[in-house]
Amino acid sequence: MNDPVTASAPAHDVAPPLWLLAELTYRCPLHCVFCYNPVDYTRHHRELDTAQWIDVLRQARELGAAQLGFSGGEPLLRDDLETLVAEARALGFYTNLLTSGVGLTDARLDALKQAGLDHIQLSFQDSTQELNDFLSHTRTFDLKKRVADSIKQHGFPMVLNCVLHRYNLPHVDKIIDMALAMGAEYLELANTQYYGWAQINRAHLLPTREQLEAAEATVERYRQSIGSRCKIFFVVPDYFERRPKRCMNGWGAVFLGVAPDGVALPCHTARSLPGLVFPNVTEVPLREIWYDSPAFNRFRGFDWMKEPCRSCSEKTVDLGGCRCQAFLLTGDAANADPVCDKSPMHEQVVQIVRAAEARERESEHPILFRNDASSRRLAACAPGDADDAGDGREAGRER
Ligand code: SF4
Ligand code: SF4
Repeated sequence: MNDPVTASAPAHDVAPPLWLLAELTYRCPLHCVFCYNPVDYTRHHRELDTAQWIDVLRQARELGAAQLGFSGGEPLLRDDLETLVAEARALGFYTNLLTSGVGLTDARLDALKQAGLDHIQLSFQDSTQELNDFLSHTRTFDLKKRVADSIKQHGFPMVLNCVLHRYNLPHVDKIIDMALAMGAEYLELANTQYYGWAQINRAHLLPTREQLEAAEATVERYRQSIGSRCKIFFVVPDYFERRPKRCMNGWGAVFLGVAPDGVALPCHTARSLPGLVFPNVTEVPLREIWYDSPAFNRFRGFDWMKEPCRSCSEKTVDLGGCRCQAFLLTGDAANADPVCDKSPMHEQVVQIVRAAEARERESEHPILFRNDASSRRLAACAPGDADDAGDGREAGRER
């Protein structure tokens, strides 16, 4: 019998990656309470250098990737961003910069335009200064508004992104008005997914069903009235569903992420899963990582599934849901995502939502901001690899 951790699925039915996410750094001037970076990001402080990133871009393009996101942390903290964008453009990628806006000066916008950047996604935490600045623990609201204006003046298509939760769901109409006033072509209203820092702050952030339904109705009303002026995406939080999402469109199916230190990942949060060794691009060619590594093959296909997924008629639709959510809520990444009401552990999700409805706190801990001190504290409690563990990895750029 195969070892479930090291067994590889045959490579012949694996399609090439379409989307490369280059997480250039975990450094960030903001401290968002729902940040999707690993809570122990301070363990992984090394960063690939410019030449290593260029090599990653070339290999990914050769594999077939066509869409490229530069993200972080805050990717503008890398002063080689323009060099990487220019290289990506020369390779034929469609490029997107995902930014908080901090550091996006007119000079950098000029340089990014010159380098051939296609698209910018700017994040806001809310439509009000108070909540934006509280949730990011910075005074950035006015700066973000100025940056939005400059992005449009430089002629970039702009996605405005706002993560939704209990605090700002009642402001959805104001957030849409703000996006329209700023001339955003797209507005992504992404309900919080409970991983990373959001998982720690879940009791503070999880909304009620009533809040969600009201927000969805508001979005629908706006969609009817604004037509094609701005396209609004409303990403529903799966805790409120009866079936899980088809996470990343399948493990190792279309998405390839590379973390700041060069660890290759089939989704941003997969790093938190125990028992999987994700290869580093400084040691293993990307083609080999994508097609042959045990970690990328671990949840491809259907053979890894346990019941009830294994014999379920819907397994080709949702692929059993999210592996990280299955692990976080059931302790086993190979279980059915417990958002599914066929999962024997679905009741856990029901109870979490019920507690939010009753406005009960699951714990008494105060809301935790993403910062280095908290990350170090959380890292001290967590097992796993660290950049300084003496594992012989090639050192990249130090912060
Ligand atoms: S979610 Fe906030 S803290 Fe996390 S990387 Fe983005 S801007 Fe920075
Ligand atoms: S049992 Fe598994 S495959 Fe079936 S619907 Fe639920 S999560 Fe999807």
